[in-house]
Amino acid sequence: MISLPEALLTELQHIKRFDKHTFIEAHQHDPVTSIRLNQDKITGLFQEQKKVPWCTEGRYLPERPVFTLDPLYHAGAYYVQEASSMFTGYLLQQIIKDHKGLRVLDLCAAPGGKSTHIASLLDNESLLISNEVIRARATILDENMTRWGHMNTWVTANDPRDFGKLHGYFDVVVADAPCSGSGLFRKDKKALEEWSEANVQMCSERQQRILADIWPAIKQDGILIYATCSYSRKEDEDILDWLAGQFEAEAIHVDIPAEWGVVEVKSNKGLSGYRFFPDNVYGEGFFIAALRKNDSSGEEYYPRFKSGHDLKIQQQAGYLLTDNNVRFMQTGKEEYCALLPDHEQDWQLLQKLVYFRKAGLRLGQPAGKDWLPAHDVALSIDAAASLPGIDVTREQALHFLRREDPGFGTIDKGWMLVRYNGLGLGWIKSLGNRINNYLPKHWRIRMEIADLD
Ligand code: SAM
Repeated sequence: MISLPEALLTELQHIKRFDKHTFIEAHQHDPVTSIRLNQDKITGLFQEQKKVPWCTEGRYLPERPVFTLDPLYHAGAYYVQEASSMFTGYLLQQIIKDHKGLRVLDLCAAPGGKSTHIASLLDNESLLISNEVIRARATILDENMTRWGHMNTWVTANDPRDFGKLHGYFDVVVADAPCSGSGLFRKDKKALEEWSEANVQMCSERQQRILADIWPAIKQDGILIYATCSYSRKEDEDILDWLAGQFEAEAIHVDIPAEWGVVEVKSNKGLSGYRFFPDNVYGEGFFIAALRKNDSSGEEYYPRFKSGHDLKIQQQAGYLLTDNNVRFMQTGKEEYCALLPDHEQDWQLLQKLVYFRKAGLRLGQPAGKDWLPAHDVALSIDAAASLPGIDVTREQALHFLRREDPGFGTIDKGWMLVRYNGLGLGWIKSLGNRINNYLPKHWRIRMEIADLD
């Protein structure tokens, strides 16, 4: 039986719709398993499962499968995401509706639940920067964004204050802040063990620092989406009041069907936020609010840069993509990427200010007359349909994902995309009767072969 901290239960007594009895009871059940489908990688998977009310692509699963053993998980056909946090997409959709060409920053983005969701909601002219300050977590974020396959989704690894230099740059900033984690007690026993009032206070102060650092980067009339997985007012409503006290910020109200069980709450200053209790919704604990920035931090004048488009690379690597109306750029010592034309200027400016893990779609590199294609192309929704490929069974796919020889027998020579259910998993180079497996080492499945069967 999970025993909840008394100090937390006392603190929550006065929170709207908190019911101590049903709240404790909900914590005796397993956490809910849910996934969100990638609408750009349709497979027909999980269609029969119950929908998450606030997310068209969200599905509840009756039990937790071993995702590692599903090649479609590795192909980016879906993302395993906690259901309540999918509400971020609903909120964003209500606010940005028909807006195109937005610059969006997901400030605390790893492992990538909200970023993959936002990527699916933005139009192609929009740019999403997914940022994660902790380098090891930025690696996981990079992998998950690569699986999702969008060229207009870039990954950076910076402290929030580094973005503060970009005055008035972003239309939307999402700050899913590090928090005390009380909303995840059912999923994360460590959060339960480490919970304390002192930690709530420490998190609240850190949240204020993060928001103060990032506020200048939001445009006037731009949007801040603030979220935590904490129930504590100090990290939720009080943060909204703190923002309204420091800056000119106004909360945005959205309509929500009552049957969803989401609780609209008001801060002391009357700002709206939305809280999820596990006894009211089928999901974990969550808090979210959207604020409009009414003050200005001064929009900077940014110079225009000369195009870095590389025709030679376009000639060599252009065959990899469906649409060649992109910029082929050298973005690192031996790294070449494709950027959407609308975003080249952003890259030219941002690369001087922040540390990029990836911008646009990594293409790979020249190798004599040959082209060594990047793993990212195999997972990209922009990969040319005409690329030579081999369709594999689940067993072959799992061998490939273990970086083993999947046993294809004799096949045509050359680079081949390994496809499962029509989705790319990675590259092999066929030498005729044997192959080299080009799955990056750190993407390899580590489960023993016996577990795969
Ligand atoms: N948005 C993510 C998602 O949906 O998958 C979850 C983000 S998690 C709640 C908060 C993230 O903030 C963590 O990845 C953590 O590493 C990062 N973080 C920790 N300290 C931070 C700081 N001082 N500034 C910004 N981000 C920080």
